[in-house]
Amino acid sequence: MAYAGSFDHLFKVLLIGDAGVGKSSLLLRFTDDSFEEHMASTIGVDFKVKTVVVGGKTAKLTIWDTAGQERFRTLTSSYYRGCHGIILVFDVNERETFNHLQQWLEELDMYATVQNAAKLLVGNKIDLQQREVTVEEATAFARKQAMMYVEVSAKTRAGVRQAFEEVVQKILDTP
Ligand code: GDP
Repeated sequence: MAYAGSFDHLFKVLLIGDAGVGKSSLLLRFTDDSFEEHMASTIGVDFKVKTVVVGGKTAKLTIWDTAGQERFRTLTSSYYRGCHGIILVFDVNERETFNHLQQWLEELDMYATVQNAAKLLVGNKIDLQQREVTVEEATAFARKQAMMYVEVSAKTRAGVRQAFEEVVQKILDTP
C-alpha cells in the first residue's frame, strides 16, 4: 500500500556540461520552480531531491549539480559513483559548449559506474534568439551516442519537466 513518502525507485541523476550552460538553473527550475537571471556560479548546488511519477511508478531522484567543479573540465570519480542517469547539458546559443560534449563523453567513459547509466542530451536556453546549434545537428550527435535529445529553457520552463521524466523513463528502460 502506498503511503506518503513511499517510492518504487531511488535514482541518482547527474547534470554535467560546461560552466554557464544552466545546470544549476535547470535543477532549481525542476525542484523548486525558481529561476534567477543572475545566478552566482560560485554558489552552486550540491544536490536536490525530487519525486516524480513516470509510467505509474514513483521515482525519488537525487539530482546532483557540479557546484562549479566543471570549470576545471574534470569531475571527481566520487561524483559519478553509483549514478543511474546523466543529463548532458549544453547551451544552444554557444557552439563551444556543444563542441565540448565529446570531451564530457570521453570523461564519462573513464568511469565504469557510468557505462550502463541512461544518458540524455539537453540543449538549454532556447528562449534566447542567438542559436548557434540547430535541432538537427544536436539530434544527429545524440543519435550517434544512443542518446535522446531534448530542448529546454530553464527560464521559461519549456521542456524542463519532460527532460527529467525522459531520463527516468530511460533509466527504467535500461536493462
Ligand atoms: P551552470 O554553471 O551550468 O550551473 O549554469 P547556471 O545555472 O549558473 O546558469 C548560468 C547563467 O545562465 C545564469 O545567469 C542563468 O540565469 C542563465 N540561464 C540558465 N538557464 C537559462 C535559460 O534557459 N535561459 C536564459 N536566458 N538564461 C539562462
